[in-house]
Amino acid sequence: MNWNKRYASRPKGPILYKHDDENFNPDDPRHGDYGYRMGCRCGVCKQFKSDEDKQHREKKLKELINNPDDPRHGTPGGGKVGCPCEPCQTAKINSRLNTQTKILSILKADPDHPLHGTLGGYNHGCRCDGCKDAMNTYKREYYRDLIGEA
Ligand SMILES: [Zn+2]
Ligand SMILES: [Zn+2]
Ligand SMILES: [Zn+2]
Repeated sequence: MNWNKRYASRPKGPILYKHDDENFNPDDPRHGDYGYRMGCRCGVCKQFKSDEDKQHREKKLKELINNPDDPRHGTPGGGKVGCPCEPCQTAKINSRLNTQTKILSILKADPDHPLHGTLGGYNHGCRCDGCKDAMNTYKREYYRDLIGEA
C-alpha cells in the first residue's frame, strides 16, 4: 500500500482542527465525538458533549433508581444526578455544607481574605466585624428600598 494513497483517502481538512483554527472546516464529518476529543469546541462538538453528559447522567440515575443496593447511593454524585432517595439527597446537602465549612475555616485562618467585609463572607458563616458590617449595611439598604425612603 502506497502511503500517499492511504493519506488521500482520509477526509479532507486538517487532522487537528479547532473552531478558532484558520483551517477550520465546519463541514468536516468528524465534528462531534472525534472533534471534541481533539479539542474542537465548535457548536456541533459542544452539543455532542452536552448530549453525551446528559445521557450519562440519565443512565446513572436509571441505574440508581433500579438498584437500591447500588454502592453509589448516599454519595454526593448520586444526589447530583438527581437520585431522590434520602441518603443521596443528604449526601448532596452535606457536601455543600462541607464546602461551606471549608471556606469558613479558610476565612478564619486568613483575616486578610478578600471575602471579609462582604456579604459572601457573612453568608459563609463568618461573623467578623467586617462581615457583620457588610450584612448590616445590606439589611439597612434592603429595608430602605423596601420602605421606599431615599
Ligand atoms: Zn467541532
Ligand atoms: Zn440514591
Ligand atoms: Zn469575615
